[in-house]
Amino acid sequence: MPGGAYNDILPKLPMADCLFCRIVRREIPAQIVHEDEQALVFKDITPQAPTHLLVIPKKHLGSLSASTDGDAPLLGHLQRVASRAAESAKLSSFRLVTNNGKGAGQSVDHLHYHLLGGRPLEWPPG
Ligand code: 5GP
Ligand code: ZN
Repeated sequence: MPGGAYNDILPKLPMADCLFCRIVRREIPAQIVHEDEQALVFKDITPQAPTHLLVIPKKHLGSLSASTDGDAPLLGHLQRVASRAAESAKLSSFRLVTNNGKGAGQSVDHLHYHLLGGRPLEWPPG
């Protein structure tokens, strides 16, 4: 396979050593609150608010920047999943945020949205 095509496919493969891919495969335990064909929602291990959930695609994407136009339906689905998770957690106010890149605080290289709520949230974030 030409290198270029391989590099296109590589970010989409399940990653053996990716923490969140391992949670998807149940190799690492997590408190899962929602699962469907495309998405997983689980509690953050270090909650920064009374409700702190992580909304992730099951498919490995390194970050939002790694997504393509073809991922638009998946990204839209994740937003609907997040909205329903907020509703289930009885949150009328919440924040949905992704840290994209080291400079923005991304520490796990698998796309995830933080769903935070249950306390006043300041703006702008640090
Ligand atoms: P980031 O810093 O990449 O935006 O967010 C990564 C998040 O993953 C952090 O909020 C961190 O607490 C959470 N996290 C890291 N390791 C684990 C884990 O093993 N299980 C769960 N549930 N969350 C984790
Ligand atoms: Zn992954």
